[in-house]
Amino acid sequence: MQQRKKFVAGNWKMNGGLAANTALLDGILAGLGSPACTVAACVPAPYLAQVSARVAGSALALGAQDVSAFASGAYTGEVSAAMLNDFSVSYCIVGHSERRQHHGETDATVAAKAQAALRAGVTPIVCVGETLAQREAGTTEAVVAGQLAAVLDVLGDEASGIVVAYEPVWAIGTGKTASPEQAQSVHAHLRARMAAAGPAVAARPILYGGSMNAANAAQLLTQPDIDGGLIGGASLKAADFLAIVSAAG
Ligand code: PEP
Repeated sequence: MQQRKKFVAGNWKMNGGLAANTALLDGILAGLGSPACTVAACVPAPYLAQVSARVAGSALALGAQDVSAFASGAYTGEVSAAMLNDFSVSYCIVGHSERRQHHGETDATVAAKAQAALRAGVTPIVCVGETLAQREAGTTEAVVAGQLAAVLDVLGDEASGIVVAYEPVWAIGTGKTASPEQAQSVHAHLRARMAAAGPAVAARPILYGGSMNAANAAQLLTQPDIDGGLIGGASLKAADFLAIVSAAG
C-alpha cells in the first residue's frame, strides 16, 4: 500500500494580530526548512493577505478557517472560495465543531461549503467529531459516519479532493486528548466509510485534532490511519508547532 504523506495544519482560530502573526511566522519559517510532511496554517480571514505574502515561496501553505457556500452576492460578512483563491489559499477548514456549535452549521451547510471550496481549487478540511455525551452513549461511530456521509453524498466523485479531520469535541481546547487507540479506532472506521466511496477517497488524509501537542503528537501520528494533525492551541507557539511537524516526520 502506498504510504500517505503526513499533513500538519495549524488552526489559529480567532487569535493573532499583525505583529503577533509576524513573530509567529518568523519563528515557524526559521525552523521549517523542507519538511517531509505537508504543513499549513489556517488563519483568520483579515490576515490572509499578510500571511499569503509572508509564506510565499516557503513550505508553509496557507489555509482559511471557513468559506461561504455561496459564490457571490448578498451574504454580508461571508468570504467566497474565489476570494480565498485570490490570496493563494490552498486549504479551508469546513464544519469545525465551533462553527457547528456557535453558528448553527448543519451537515448540509458543511457539504455545500466543501463543494464550493473544491470548485474554486481550495482543498476543504472537513471536520467531524462526537460530543462527550455522544461518546458516552456509544454513538461515536454513528455520529462521525453520518457527518462524513452527508459530505460524501453531496460531493460524489469530487470527494477525492477532500481532507478529513476527526476532532472529538470533548478534546478540543480542553487538554483532554483521545488516546492513540481511541483515535485510531475512529480513524479506521472513517477510512472504511471512505473506502466505500472508492479507492481515491480512501487514500485521502485523515487528520486527528483535539489537544494534540508536542508531547503527545508522536504517539498519535504513528497510528496507521492517523495521517496528521489539525492543531489549535499548539499551533500558536512556533516551537510547539515545529515539534509536531517533526513528529509527523
Ligand atoms: C482545533 O481547533 O481544531 C483544535 C484541535 O484545537 P486544540 O488543538 O486547541 O484542541
